[in-house]
Amino acid sequence: MIIKCIPGGIFLTNCYILGDEDTNEAILIDPGEQVEEALKEIQESGLNITKIVNTHTHIDHVAGVQKAKEALGVGFYLHPEEEPVLKALPESAQRFPQFGDVKVPKIDGYIEEGDEIEIGSLKAKVLHTPGHTWGGICLVIDDQVISGDTLFAGSVGRVDLTGGTSMRELVSSIKAKLMVLPDSYAVHPGHGPSTTIGIERRSNPFIAGDLLIL
Ligand SMILES: [Zn+2]
Ligand SMILES: [Zn+2]
Repeated sequence: MIIKCIPGGIFLTNCYILGDEDTNEAILIDPGEQVEEALKEIQESGLNITKIVNTHTHIDHVAGVQKAKEALGVGFYLHPEEEPVLKALPESAQRFPQFGDVKVPKIDGYIEEGDEIEIGSLKAKVLHTPGHTWGGICLVIDDQVISGDTLFAGSVGRVDLTGGTSMRELVSSIKAKLMVLPDSYAVHPGHGPSTTIGIERRSNPFIAGDLLIL
């Protein structure tokens, strides 16, 4: 399996390329401001991108989707409950002029809880993990987890941004969907370094601690 992380942009957001080295097929996850770098990486590696998949559609994760769609000629997929967050993109672009002229990409298909996205001989299982946004998802491929802004090393996502629900829902999504996975599974978040399910189970204050979640 190929996992490439391309961090970039004002919020240092992680874009991922997830591929099958046997077939050279791959998907592009959360292309934001670093989209040019991601496209260069794709071209140099010779990977054949079949889909753009977003964990959620905050501006720093979606700003590069339109450009990637045009460059790669592939479809854009997200969870249906994420659509209102995507629709709010022009408002976010006004609030964050640093992103420049951000276009709302057309959705080509939906992915939902339990779906499996084929990447060559690999399958990425979709977990719906609402909290950070309504339609936020995580992906599990073998023993690797792409966690978006749901779970970070030592922390969890904010719930006070567009589409955010409550800390209670976010933490219960993490416990029900991610903390049932084995300790050895690697977790690759939307910001910051990778971690493992075991490390977060033991030391993340939102999960392991007695933090009072209201
Ligand atoms: Zn986010
Ligand atoms: Zn983010």
